[in-house]
Amino acid sequence: MLTQAPKGTQDLLPQGSYRVQAVEAIMRQVCDLYGYREVRTPVFEHTELFQRSVGDTTDVVQKEMYTFTDKGDRSITLKPEGTAGVARAFLEGKLYQEPLPCKMYYVSTPCFRYEKPQAGRLRQFHQHGIEVFGAKDASVDAEVIALAMDVLHRAGVKNLHLGINSIGCPLCRAAYHEALQAFLAPKLPGLCENCRDRFGRNPLRILDCKEEACQKAIQGAPGILDHLCADCAGHFDALQGYLAALGIDYEVDSRIVRGLDYYTKTVFELIAKLPTGDLTVCGGGRYDGLIGELGGPPTCGIGFGMGVERLLMVQELERAAPPAPRLYDAFVCTLGRDARLKGLSLVADLRKAGLSADLDHAARSLKAQFKYADKIGAPYVVVLAGDELAKGAAKLRDMAGSSEEEVPFEHLIPTLKERLGRD
Ligand code: ATP
Ligand code: MG
Repeated sequence: MLTQAPKGTQDLLPQGSYRVQAVEAIMRQVCDLYGYREVRTPVFEHTELFQRSVGDTTDVVQKEMYTFTDKGDRSITLKPEGTAGVARAFLEGKLYQEPLPCKMYYVSTPCFRYEKPQAGRLRQFHQHGIEVFGAKDASVDAEVIALAMDVLHRAGVKNLHLGINSIGCPLCRAAYHEALQAFLAPKLPGLCENCRDRFGRNPLRILDCKEEACQKAIQGAPGILDHLCADCAGHFDALQGYLAALGIDYEVDSRIVRGLDYYTKTVFELIAKLPTGDLTVCGGGRYDGLIGELGGPPTCGIGFGMGVERLLMVQELERAAPPAPRLYDAFVCTLGRDARLKGLSLVADLRKAGLSADLDHAARSLKAQFKYADKIGAPYVVVLAGDELAKGAAKLRDMAGSSEEEVPFEHLIPTLKERLGRD
């Protein structure tokens, strides 16, 4: 127990952290280009926030939340997704008083869901995401989709499939619910317990149920696209026009309903097509009713959540992961006390000059220091020892070429910079 992380969690070890940092840097860079600014919200929120927003007939709220009572007798939940907290922050920070649209992003925000752990499904995972408040036109739906695809493409994901759908607004959904209930009524006894409950309260959710019996029951069910009101149909048409203008390929897939209740109109998924099968890396949609539902002034919104661990999986499977950066530009090897003192100040000077460097801290012999420098892949080794040291010089060893030359101290940093191709 002591040496085992809880089920469904993962450590990010130093050997692999550069990969996460790389996809975080891409996310920041792209968001910057699109005019989004970072937002950070707490890891936990009042449970009611998720019940009201994600919805209490969803799998996430019914089965997957990490909820506990704190010492002050409040019901607290570790966030299962990013949107609800950001919507709450938008309201609490009165961001609706600022010029709209308000465009925000978050990077590697931890999310918690009590799920059955398997490849790409964890209990603590991380999401990159964006949220836009106060933009009604479908052009922003296209922008949100384009931004997600931009991030994934820059991360090296090649075979990306975009599926879009519209799940309408409360107006057209009422008519659709009726049609769906009429279709499902004869199959009701065969549905799972949750779906029998959803049938009256939120039949759309049944389309998202993972139970095999329910999946079977919904085959041939009426499609929501045939029930959209004029406003929602117009919005969906406009989105398709914008996507075409951006040259983004997509497929209209009426089976996409998304697992969170706050969605209205546009919903979408980005699926990586891999030799091993499909992997959904990103999902999102519009949530025009959310801010109103939380008690704020009616404000439309749209966003996405992107699974960071899934993105890393895709990179690996597509062999698109960047190479590990080297730990040091130069490693300083020393022999004797004088050399060590000089070495310490040299390392400080190298770092000041923007070169990553270190010296031995493990009291190793000179030979063992070379071995270590080789093992960690330092391209250059600076040797401080014997006659050269007395002369005010060092030996500079090029580890790849195995060549060595004597360099006076004052020329060491410019020489190293030149060799490393730095300014
Ligand atoms: P799925 O259908 O795979 O359960 P979801 O619809 O529950 O996904 P969202 O709530 O839309 O997922 O979350 C957005 C993204 O977060 C997903 O596309 C996925 O990449 C990632 N994600 C969701 N749940 C997990 C999890 N348990 N472990 C790792 N990543 C996850
Ligand atoms: Mg899920």
